[in-house]
Amino acid sequence: MHKKLFIPGPIEIAPEILNAMATPMIGHRMPEYAHLHKGVTDKLKKLMFTEERVFLATSSAFGVMEGAVRNLVGKRCANFCNGAFSDKWHNVTLACGKEADAFKAEWGEPITPEMVDAALATGKYDSMTLIHNETSTGVMSPLPEIAEVLRKYPEVLSIVDTVSSMSALKIPVADLGIDCCIFGVQKAFALPPGLAVFSASERALERAKTVPGRGYYFDFLEFAAADEKDNTPSTPCISLIYAMDLQLDRIFAEGMEQRWQRHADMAQFMRNWAQEHGFGLLAAPPYRSVTLTCATNDRGVNLAQMKKQLGERGFAFDDGYGKLKGKTFRVAHMGDMQLSDLKEITAEMEQILQADKD
Ligand SMILES: *Cc1c(COP(=O)(O)O)cnc(C)c1O
Repeated sequence: MHKKLFIPGPIEIAPEILNAMATPMIGHRMPEYAHLHKGVTDKLKKLMFTEERVFLATSSAFGVMEGAVRNLVGKRCANFCNGAFSDKWHNVTLACGKEADAFKAEWGEPITPEMVDAALATGKYDSMTLIHNETSTGVMSPLPEIAEVLRKYPEVLSIVDTVSSMSALKIPVADLGIDCCIFGVQKAFALPPGLAVFSASERALERAKTVPGRGYYFDFLEFAAADEKDNTPSTPCISLIYAMDLQLDRIFAEGMEQRWQRHADMAQFMRNWAQEHGFGLLAAPPYRSVTLTCATNDRGVNLAQMKKQLGERGFAFDDGYGKLKGKTFRVAHMGDMQLSDLKEITAEMEQILQADKD
């Protein structure tokens, strides 16, 4: 039995997207591929509000997250950490042999502009990493305010992960001045995993020229050179790029504003439901994610049991990430999901909670 995915990634994929992936294969050095590639990257630029280069990498998000660090950290990197993915990014930065410091907020707290200002004011850093939407905790850090602070530090390249937020709300990459914006596609984009997208500003590409040890697979300069021919350095996941092409058309057909509103509505519904049913919310109001809700287990439900019972009913449910397992649960509301999907899973949860009480 297929379990309908309510976990924060991978998420449910529309049947027409799966069909698009069955499109007959083409060679990546054939003109047909260049045409597909240019169409997709142009649409991505529109979605990301940038005229800068946008590249397609065949990997999960962490491939490019590692690649960005290898390409863009010259002197020392400030890694801002407030959950599992951002903590890991710091370890990845160190594993790449880079000098780096972690600036940590508690899990459930955002990264604040003040934290970023204090760290960068030391003058020690030429690069920083930030996760916009910490999927492990359902916390969305205030990107516009942080971007404002970054303007004071033109020597610092900003590397921002929008894996679980891009397309769910407006993220104007160029206006924000993000030098490298990265996302994978199995979360907010509702595509099967295996493709990552990233933008690179001119100054990011200039920096890469001065940084040794970029490797090959994620060398930004290789991507830039291939991009001149609407291509990728090595063979891309063409089937997924077909899927991305269709998904972008579907996003524009829905309308970006409508898509943002749908996410805001779903988030509001899920937060209300949690609070009306005896649960709390891990994040403070301004920092609650629009793509997933992380509820605190205030009523002391056996979440492992809930996960099992929902599984038997055909729903994949998340009972907390890492050290938050059992203490929180997360419900995704991203990609193609609709309010009706949330009503479906919450109705099941209500039945299970009621049966528990009886
Ligand atoms: C899922 C996730 C990642 C990791 O992505 P992979 O595709 O598994 O490499 C990184 N950052 C965030 C915010 C995520 O949600």
